Amino acid sequence: MVSVPTEAALEAILEDYLRQCHGDPAHVAATQDYLKVMTRKALRQFRRRPNNKPKVEINLWDELYNFSCSKTPEISGELIRKQLRTLLEKGQHYQCCYCRRPLLNSGHAKPIEHVLPRSKCVQHTFNLFNLVVCCVDCNLRKSNHIWSLKEGEFTSEQEYPSPESFDDLYHPRFHNYNEHIKFIRLQSNHHNISIYKGLTSQGKNLCANMLTHLSQKEVFVNGNPDLKEYITTIDQHTAETNSKADKAIRVFQTAFASATDDLLYEL
Ligand SMILES: [Zn+2]
Repeated sequence: MVSVPTEAALEAILEDYLRQCHGDPAHVAATQDYLKVMTRKALRQFRRRPNNKPKVEINLWDELYNFSCSKTPEISGELIRKQLRTLLEKGQHYQCCYCRRPLLNSGHAKPIEHVLPRSKCVQHTFNLFNLVVCCVDCNLRKSNHIWSLKEGEFTSEQEYPSPESFDDLYHPRFHNYNEHIKFIRLQSNHHNISIYKGLTSQGKNLCANMLTHLSQKEVFVNGNPDLKEYITTIDQHTAETNSKADKAIRVFQTAFASATDDLLYEL
């Protein structure tokens, strides 16, 4: 029997977040108001979507990042996201929600990830329970996938699915990692080897679609010290969001992930 949080527990987590959604208590109320506005915008976009398929890229998340309040400069999208990342990371004990590797100390290397991707589920863009922090590798691998037979249901419903609905998909906010995935990590002078085993249908799904791939990539990168050094430098580089360097890094990371995929699956 898979354990999931009760409605009361989720309510308490949400209240806790809303109390701390801005680092300065003086700006909490205004930040809450702004988040409500953004949530309403996301719902409007959802309702406008023909067959839930956007004609154009939905950029509400970027809009949040670029937001700045003319009257109160302390209420900016950048600060709201920074505070959110800080709280999420703490709740995850500074580990990636999927692979459990330690999160690198750079915002760029620990993106806020949407469990149900915002490109397919715009209605959940700002839902706290849809947000987690993961490492670059997991973020790239996950991309806009919903590895579930219920994808159609998840994308078409306005309400966030209940924890019980995720019966074939691992959900980092609703599931207890140890119940679903077992892993062992070995480190030597030159190698890191991680072995993951799914214990439930959700855990097996995550292993098949993401973690087994990550283990292979880790062995490949760690087997080449120069490559490992360059990749680590790039992953840790802090570039201003949406700057030329930031975009170039994302393009490189995506191309590298795709090239290692091709290489590993050929072996
Ligand atoms: Zn990860």
